[in-house]
Amino acid sequence: MGLTVVIAASEAIPFAKTGGLADVAGSLPAALKHLGLKVIVFLPYYREVAEKGFDIQETGLQVPVNMGRRTVKADVLVGEHHVVPYYFLRRDEYFDRRYLYGTPEGDYFDNLERFTFFSRAVLEVIKARDLSPDVIHCNDWQTGLIPAYLKDIYRGESVFARTATVLTVHNIAYQGQFPANFYGVTGLGSYLFTPEGLEFWGNLNLLKSGIVFSDAITTVSRGYSREIQTPEFGYGLEGVLKKRKDVLSGILNGVDYTEWDPATDTHIPHNFNIEEMKGKSDCRKKLLKAFRVKAKAKTPVIGMITRLADQKGIDILSEAMPELMKLDLVMLVLGSGDRRYQELLLDLAGHYPDRLSVKIAFNSGLSHMVEAGSDMFLMPSRYEPCGLNQIYSLKYGTIPIVRATGGLDDTVKDVSEEGGNGFKFKEYSAAALVEKVSEAVEAFQDKKTWTALQRRGMAEDFSWSDAAKKYVEVYRSAQARLLKT
Ligand code: ADP
Repeated sequence: MGLTVVIAASEAIPFAKTGGLADVAGSLPAALKHLGLKVIVFLPYYREVAEKGFDIQETGLQVPVNMGRRTVKADVLVGEHHVVPYYFLRRDEYFDRRYLYGTPEGDYFDNLERFTFFSRAVLEVIKARDLSPDVIHCNDWQTGLIPAYLKDIYRGESVFARTATVLTVHNIAYQGQFPANFYGVTGLGSYLFTPEGLEFWGNLNLLKSGIVFSDAITTVSRGYSREIQTPEFGYGLEGVLKKRKDVLSGILNGVDYTEWDPATDTHIPHNFNIEEMKGKSDCRKKLLKAFRVKAKAKTPVIGMITRLADQKGIDILSEAMPELMKLDLVMLVLGSGDRRYQELLLDLAGHYPDRLSVKIAFNSGLSHMVEAGSDMFLMPSRYEPCGLNQIYSLKYGTIPIVRATGGLDDTVKDVSEEGGNGFKFKEYSAAALVEKVSEAVEAFQDKKTWTALQRRGMAEDFSWSDAAKKYVEVYRSAQARLLKT
């Protein structure tokens, strides 16, 4: 019999997106369905979802959500993506806002309340609809309370009798930490607020809740699953993860090639494929126009699409910029996020108007253009749980230049190695970055080997089919473990 899986996520394409989690929550469900599972996805009903004009219907169902001192109502709506039902939980007080989690100045003050509401509402809908899922698949801190709820408040409810929880950590640096005096909002028993439970150095930590109480934990690459067990990458949770290492695994994110394939991509002006690459140079021309810069044919265009956050290496990039700008290259950056990085990049672009163009925006259509029209794609991340753009880049014949960390290290092989598909530097420094980019710029001049390199990457396959099978294995073993106890 096929498993029934509920996926709870705080973002998913095409509905709402800030980063890679949205790509996963918008494409893994369809791959699971393809394997015969029954899949239902839950998302908050953000303003962005309401405004984009999707075909989303009221279900008429409304569930009560206990928020500690008060009980509020969640309206349930339903839409569809890739033939999978997506349920939306609406409460405008929490989600009718411009951003998902916070403004460029910082997080929303009531994120604990917002995502406690979401997590409990998911469970209430499962109850109301008598869904009896085999697994609830939680993602990041926003849904980290769900495993704790199943071990506490909802324990003994027959609808959850066979329900295991799986937590995927997409980024361990974002933990959802809140002062202890707000613990009451969660409604959980105070006996769980200990260092063995949800407490983290005196604070409430929602990601820790998920790590401690879920039946299995995954993260989005094997490299990252090892890294987060060390002090350098664990952001304080390395000890907790080590304790649970027997149930921790790394599954590399897949790619939805119905979205990200230059042969069929509807966001780009000229399609191309491994045999017929002409469309790529036409895309390059249009891309340069869109960013208002010029480049000769022999000058490589280096693209970047990035959240502007500490992890993404903007500090070493800006330190490297004077040296990079001495090379024969043009750099195009599409980014959004922290105000200080916005200003830093715009300032640099002001210094090098002919060589560096920066667009501060979150623009999915343009991101496809950057993938298609660039010759190289730069990801100098300090850490990178999986990283999707380097994988998209491979498919678009856009050679990735990455720092060897997490999923970047797992997916990109330096050209100096057998089967190399990109350029990879080890040390997190401006000097190492400049050295690697120089090497790539030089290699670009040899068209024959460059084209061979492009074709090698374009032939690689990172589709979801294998990864989805691995998730099913995790689901089954999590449930078996639960039912044994
Ligand atoms: P992260 O989740 O840490 O942001 P990933 O590489 O896993 O990094 O995923 C990022 C996703 O978000 C990719 O699909 C990327 O194209 C997209 N993205 C990031 N910044 C932007 C932006 N400014 N405009 C459009 N898409 C963006």
